[in-house]
Amino acid sequence: MSVAYHLARAGETDVLVLERDRLTSGSTWHAAGLMTCFGSFSETSTRMRLYSRELYGRLEAETGLSTGFRPVGLVEAAADPVRLEEYRRVAAFQRRLGLEVEEISPRESAELFPLARTDDLLAGFHVPGDGRVNPVDLTMSLARGARARGARVVEGVSVTDVDTRARGAVREVTGVDTDHGPVACEIVVNCAGMWARQLAERTGVVVPNQAAEHYYLVTEPIEGMSPQAPVFEDPSSHAYYREEGGGMMVGLFEPVAAAWRVDRVPDDFSFGTIPPDWERMTPFLATAMARVPVVETAGIRTFFCGPESFTPDLAPAVGQAPGVLGYFVAAGMNSVGVLSAGGIGRLVAHWVLTGRPDQDVTGIDVARFLPWRLESRHRSERTAEILGTVYAAHPPGTQLASSRGVFRSPVHDRMVAAGAFLRDVSGWESAAWYAGPGAAPTADPGWGRAPWWERWEAEHRAVREAVGVFDMSFMAKLAVRGPDAAGVLDRLSCGPVTERDGRITYTQWLGEDGGVDADLTVTRLAADDFLVVASDTAHGQVSGMLRRALGDADATVTDVTEDLAMLSVQGPRSRAVLSTVAPGADWSGGAFAFRDARRVTVLDEEVLAVRVTYVGELGWELYLPARAAGPVWDALMDAGHRHGIRPVGLSALSSLRLEKGYRDHGHDLDNTDDVWAAGLGFTLALDKPGGFVGREATLAARERGAPLHRIVSVVLADPEPLLFHGEVVLRDGVPVGDVRSGSYGWTVGGAVGLAGIGHDDGVTAAWVGSGTWEVDVAGARYPAAVSMRAPYDPAGTRVRA
Ligand SMILES: Cc1cc2nc3c(=O)[nH]c(=O)nc-3n(C[C@H](O)[C@H](O)[C@H](O)COP(=O)(O)OP(=O)(O)OC[C@H]3O[C@@H](n4cnc5c(N)ncnc54)[C@H](O)[C@@H]3O)c2cc1C
Repeated sequence: MSVAYHLARAGETDVLVLERDRLTSGSTWHAAGLMTCFGSFSETSTRMRLYSRELYGRLEAETGLSTGFRPVGLVEAAADPVRLEEYRRVAAFQRRLGLEVEEISPRESAELFPLARTDDLLAGFHVPGDGRVNPVDLTMSLARGARARGARVVEGVSVTDVDTRARGAVREVTGVDTDHGPVACEIVVNCAGMWARQLAERTGVVVPNQAAEHYYLVTEPIEGMSPQAPVFEDPSSHAYYREEGGGMMVGLFEPVAAAWRVDRVPDDFSFGTIPPDWERMTPFLATAMARVPVVETAGIRTFFCGPESFTPDLAPAVGQAPGVLGYFVAAGMNSVGVLSAGGIGRLVAHWVLTGRPDQDVTGIDVARFLPWRLESRHRSERTAEILGTVYAAHPPGTQLASSRGVFRSPVHDRMVAAGAFLRDVSGWESAAWYAGPGAAPTADPGWGRAPWWERWEAEHRAVREAVGVFDMSFMAKLAVRGPDAAGVLDRLSCGPVTERDGRITYTQWLGEDGGVDADLTVTRLAADDFLVVASDTAHGQVSGMLRRALGDADATVTDVTEDLAMLSVQGPRSRAVLSTVAPGADWSGGAFAFRDARRVTVLDEEVLAVRVTYVGELGWELYLPARAAGPVWDALMDAGHRHGIRPVGLSALSSLRLEKGYRDHGHDLDNTDDVWAAGLGFTLALDKPGGFVGREATLAARERGAPLHRIVSVVLADPEPLLFHGEVVLRDGVPVGDVRSGSYGWTVGGAVGLAGIGHDDGVTAAWVGSGTWEVDVAGARYPAAVSMRAPYDPAGTRVRA
């Protein structure tokens, strides 16, 4: 209803909502109605929640129907040091985005919510503007608002299929089939809640949300339980508490949950409940009751279990499906669909009407899901785990345990033999760092330094001073071939990607509005043969953009991600190592220049060697058939032994690239940044014949002057405090931005990161250079050096060595 409301509000009256049964009959009717904003490190999510909260407060004045919103406040309990650290960091991050939140003492927490035990708490976080809403009333108010502006809402009609026709390499929507006959339309938005996957699958659209059991109980009336009491949330007790009918509602997020109906959600499941699994839930109920003991004696009126759907990464599935034009999705709400609905409806309506999202969608874009996510075991196991992470603490290094090793690098065994501490990278197993041959690596998540940091430092230094090998086989690799391949890629890319054979180009793919939609490399192997390489997280988005751009062109896209291994050999001694393993090639600077790509022979295998770096050193990426990767890895290690070679993991990749200021799309760069804001103007080929998508908007932005926000490098002067993500950046004591990616710069001697900062008069080098900079790390401020240039080797001399 929120999508329909926002479409209608924006003036689009040709809107038809088809509801299978009655509005709210899926998950919404039984939602607990928490309208809370606290707790997210995501700017997109925070802004959506803030918008929802504001909308729910004012909707009645517009529609005449109350949403039931009551800003009774939220008290979030911090019961252990790890959560306290997290909440302090989150509070600072969200405060900058406009959320009013203050840390309060356990005693003050008790004053606000006297029925809770607070003697063992470390602190509370009070958000006075948060509260609760009535989900059914909210839906009806949105429906009335939508109808009043011309939208039609029809209940009792099921969409049975979405009709499409071929359009170039993709398809486009032509209408929907229903149990009452067909309806023609150009755009469909799948908002089918826990049914969204089933409906989407019929059209080949990947929406891997999965229903799960979700619980709350409601007690008999309790003396002293005021309707004005704030919502109290204690994640360490797995529970939230609020007033309901004079009693108390206790909602649960148990650490290990249960998927519901993995095969198929029944088509006729309406206003339905699930029989509670008392045995499974009893231990968590006991913990929840221990925090608010009166619940135990009050008598339980209802123990409720209803389904809500979750996605594999706990972020919603939103936006345009990559392979079907006109097919939008807004589903997979992960237990926060009521409080997110305002923001998501607004975003989707904007996206539908303008063709572009106006917020960072890299973390929520439905295009991020590849087909393997639909596999039933993955959905089942991941859902049981992901619901449990909602109330877990989230210190850095936290990993998911389910669905590991869906993909394995061809050098997996070599990495394990070298003592790799493995982490999940979009379904691939990859090394975070190496404990050394024969060692069994272990690591605990945490906000501080860990024993393995010595290993990380050694790997970082090996790349700066000698040579290291990274397995990057998880990168998305797409072969684009055919007579029109060059034309398609040239139009998509803002850089000079078709210059000549044997060249790699680092480039962006922009939207018409100049926003950076993708950040990748294009290698021209021959006039009709190109290799596109993007990060694992951008895989679906990039291949979708490519297929849409193909249109009727005479070119094909082949996903070669699993066929080609990629080993990246980086560091000042890389040339010496590669000269030994491939003596037939000339690796000298004159013959093999930066950005050159050549076929070389290693162990009788043809290997594509590309001179490029993501760490800021002399280095090459080697693309080779998966079957050859193991022997080539061994040959590199043998040849590199006397040069100090070592396998290097992703922790060092991160620290090395951040010292060099290299961006990572989806982390420090997103679709709301243009190349000027991203500091990537140097990649543009503004004069190439035929131009490129987004050129006009890019030029117009330059005409307007300095960007209003920009990505900059940050280095803390004090070597002790650490940066991860979300730390607030202050100029002359005023918050102006936050750290998007943080790591430890072993070469620059302190925590290093990339931050997004803003200034209403434009972010210029002079403004940056004339400020006094600090970063707020969990409530303490530390002096920082902020600059538009890379902290390490800004002139790039090492890369061109
Ligand atoms: C116990 C519990 C407590 C919760 N508490 C909260 C909370 O406090 N705060 C919060 O924000 N969220 C909460 N949630 C989550 C919230 O309920 C959901 O995220 C939200 O309701 C999802 O809304 P939706 O519109 O995506 O899905 P739904 O409400 O399920 O709506 C989907 C609709 O699509 C219709 N439909 C499906 N298939 C078709 C078809 N083929 N054709 C036509 N119509 C179709 C269905 O009939 C249904 O009405 C809670 C959930 C549970 C289970």
